[in-house]
Amino acid sequence: MINHFVGGAPWTGRSTRRGDVYDPATGKVSAEVAFASTADVAAAVDVATGAARQWRDASLARRTAVMFAFRQLLHARRDELAAAITAEHGKVLSDAAGEVQRGLEVVEYACGIPTLLRGGFSENVSTEVDSYSLRQPLGVVAVISPFNFPAMVPLWFVPIAIACGNAVVLKPSEKDPSAPTLLAQWFAEAGLPPGVFNVVHGDAEAVDALLDHAGVRAVSFVGSTPVARHVYQRGTAAGKRVQALGGAKNHMVVLPDADLDLAADAAVSAGFGSAGERCMAISVVVAVEPVADELVARIAARLDGVRTGDGRRPGCEMGPLVTGAHRDRVVSYVKAGVDAGATAVVDGRTVEPDGEPGGFWLGPTLFDHVTPEMSIYTDEIFGPVLSVVRVASYDEALALVNANPYGNGTAIFTNDGGAARRFQHEVEVGMVGVNVPIPVPMAYFSFGGWKASLFGDTHAHGREGVHFFTRGKVVTSRWLDPRHGGVNLGFPTQS
Ligand code: NAD
Repeated sequence: MINHFVGGAPWTGRSTRRGDVYDPATGKVSAEVAFASTADVAAAVDVATGAARQWRDASLARRTAVMFAFRQLLHARRDELAAAITAEHGKVLSDAAGEVQRGLEVVEYACGIPTLLRGGFSENVSTEVDSYSLRQPLGVVAVISPFNFPAMVPLWFVPIAIACGNAVVLKPSEKDPSAPTLLAQWFAEAGLPPGVFNVVHGDAEAVDALLDHAGVRAVSFVGSTPVARHVYQRGTAAGKRVQALGGAKNHMVVLPDADLDLAADAAVSAGFGSAGERCMAISVVVAVEPVADELVARIAARLDGVRTGDGRRPGCEMGPLVTGAHRDRVVSYVKAGVDAGATAVVDGRTVEPDGEPGGFWLGPTLFDHVTPEMSIYTDEIFGPVLSVVRVASYDEALALVNANPYGNGTAIFTNDGGAARRFQHEVEVGMVGVNVPIPVPMAYFSFGGWKASLFGDTHAHGREGVHFFTRGKVVTSRWLDPRHGGVNLGFPTQS
């Protein structure tokens, strides 16, 4: 049984609701996870509130020491964390290790919190009056994360929130709850006081309880667009600061002058890595004619060599989907694509996986001649399905990308610097790659999409993360001089 982690220790909570956790490569239930009730969430927020009052006064030196110690533990145990991810998510071990690495980088960024929180000072803003700015923690903040990065997405927020002096209640995905629970245990081992980082497991009931609780000051959410919209609306209606990162439909534009081998490699890596269950996965290749025939042939040739199977077995490059229900949903899109008249160049339903027959398998699927009204184009499938849309010009490609309701990531493949520069200037997407298919920003930049891929105005980690988890204060001070001037009812101005 996977328990909550509250007040520095595992906690079963009072609710008797539970969920099943699967090993997606076998299709068998591997554990049960506790589902928090509204009352359980309230109990966790109470604990966090008490801890936040103390932790806000911890010196920057102390916070940094905890962060460095946590970084050491995480680095030393990265293989253990990757194994926990693979066992419940299904992604192959090397991919899970990559996720841990990207999370680790945010921890390293948070180790620089003394510099990141440093304010400004101006002497003599008025005669003998000084002004300085501070950024202070919010109190208790909630993080709600999706199944597809059970370690990295919590690590986008939690280290920065804690380093800024907040206490955190994390509600991870109920599909792969073990990795985030390990993070909380290891933070405790690193010397973080009890109650500063708490994990409550559960489903919509726990999420809504966090959104409604008056003691939660801010919410960082990552997940699908309908839930992101709900979280943003309900959280802001309750007076909270909310950043809600949503779904995606990421387009990769290939211009006629591109290196087609590079583009085909990138399309396969970014389309099928993690079985397409990445918010920055490429799901649409926009082939600007006359490259489409050649590009599709090169992508298809590469798919012949992609081995689908148990992520723990050497040589497997693509694992199963996270649950049987999700696999069935993705299969229904493959069927809908065929029915709508798209050409299934490679059909993943015929895959022979290197794994147990009960696993949630689907092989890579490549569709050509996809048109914008087909459901395989309009919907976020979140699986190993790559669609090729053929267009006649750069302008048509740009218009297609900009007409899409999502705006998370995009890429352009070209050897024309001028075209690439024009694209990065004109495209309405938050993260842009030039000959780079998955342009996930480093920890010291900020991660976030536009349009239906982000509700709120602050992106994750980097300076925007520090800003999100703190509020500004400006102090104006005068230490009295014997010459002070007496009563003045006028509005303060410079003098
Ligand atoms: P999801 O929206 O189903 O779940 C996300 C979280 O919300 C989970 O913790 C879940 O328990 C909770 N939740 C689910 N339904 C809810 C409801 N009705 N009310 C309240 N809470 C609810 O997402 P998922 O399937 O876990 O993750 C995949 C999605 O996340 C994809 O759409 C993907 O694009 C998106 N994603 C986006 C980013 C990004 O940075 N924009 C990153 C990773 C994943």
